[in-house]
Amino acid sequence: MKVEHMEITLSTKHRRELINITEVVEKFVRSVNIKNGICLVFVPHATAALLCNEDEPNIREDYLKLFERLVPEEGEYSHNKIDNNADSHLLASLLKSFLVFPIKDYKLVRGTWQEIFLVELDGPRDKRRVIVLCIGVQ
Ligand code: ZN
Repeated sequence: MKVEHMEITLSTKHRRELINITEVVEKFVRSVNIKNGICLVFVPHATAALLCNEDEPNIREDYLKLFERLVPEEGEYSHNKIDNNADSHLLASLLKSFLVFPIKDYKLVRGTWQEIFLVELDGPRDKRRVIVLCIGVQ
């Protein structure tokens, strides 16, 4: 059994933003020399999340529009009495903080249109972390 771990650090530019991290994750999976196993991708933040779906400029816009429909940035939020980011916490709680993928024949298994995104919900931030953990057999 082999366990390999890495951390991606990113800075974000906008309050709400999608950053495609598929290439970095796949490159790491190829480098760990695990034939069969699982890859966990985890975001250790309360106002950021992960999403696994298509990447294309129009749907990126649609994701952001959906977020705004679900949890508008402006609203009567109780948490905003102490911190001005209730919408960020609420959206993060509706999305995922982790994703799990199979590793098969040394490669991450995902659908053709399944790209991996870090979803910034309270940016811009200097340091957003994504933890990638691979566990499996060689
Ligand atoms: Zn807060």
